[in-house]
Amino acid sequence: MDVYSEKKFIFKIIPCPLCGQDKFRVLGEKEGGFFSRSDSTAVPARIVSCLSCSLIYVNPMPFPGRLDSSDIYNEEYTEMLSKSIPFDQLSERDIDVFEGRLRLERMESIIGHRGRLLDIGCGPGNLLVQSIRSGWDATGLEVNRESAHFAREVNKVPVVTGMLEDFEHSWKESFDAVYFNQVLEHTQEPLKFLKTVRRILKPRGVVFCGVPNESCFMNHVGHYYFKFRLSPFTPFLSPTFSPYHMIGFSTKSIRQAFEMTGFEVIEIRNINYTSIGEVFGGKKEFLKRIRIFLGLLARMAGHGYGLDVYGVPK
Ligand SMILES: [Zn+2]
Repeated sequence: MDVYSEKKFIFKIIPCPLCGQDKFRVLGEKEGGFFSRSDSTAVPARIVSCLSCSLIYVNPMPFPGRLDSSDIYNEEYTEMLSKSIPFDQLSERDIDVFEGRLRLERMESIIGHRGRLLDIGCGPGNLLVQSIRSGWDATGLEVNRESAHFAREVNKVPVVTGMLEDFEHSWKESFDAVYFNQVLEHTQEPLKFLKTVRRILKPRGVVFCGVPNESCFMNHVGHYYFKFRLSPFTPFLSPTFSPYHMIGFSTKSIRQAFEMTGFEVIEIRNINYTSIGEVFGGKKEFLKRIRIFLGLLARMAGHGYGLDVYGVPK
């Protein structure tokens, strides 16, 4: 049912995108945009949790109206995230570099060889550089024209521009590995996305999926903090708000999504970005150690910031 529509998006009240049930509780509201900054495509969001499977999602859900995905993930969006830096200027301790290397090694150990790899949402192409240098035959898919151009021209990696469904038929059972990091939480229909990934993967292939862990320690602390202050704000689905982050997974719900779309989950790693100090320019060793310590505690309790999921076709 259309609740209301405007020029950019069509807002629809939807049943749970994971289990299909329509009962939910409201966690809170937030303005759109990125952190506290609002951009021209941002829309306000009501964030809910499914009473049946606990998936967190935006409801009403904004579906693209006159905007297509390349309008939403535009230059403004790239600028909000980070400036693109050539791969060879990144530090060994950069998250992209060391997490990328670990993930490539883990995928190779699961299927026992390297092969043809697709990075969906490859951004400036950091993982593609690493995979090609370590012997994979890798290609990127990127909706943002500016990032795709940077990946091709600066990092010299092969990238096609568009959406997964544009290539679905020509890529049927083509890849030994499909990698998508920080992508699934941006889709309105995560099950449809995973089924498409399943179709372009070879029968003995492997997938890697990285998503934020909505059940992380900081979300729960923040949620009750704002409730205590009688604020409608909720930290869930941070840091990029509607129309960017629209689905929020926990260990349980990401496993359910994989199992419903033809995958066996090999491993879910609860990760913390222990190099977070690098990202935020943390210089003070003492604070850094406290952060690492808290991060380890959260990770041990299953409440780290991110989930790294490895799956194979059933
Ligand atoms: Zn549900």
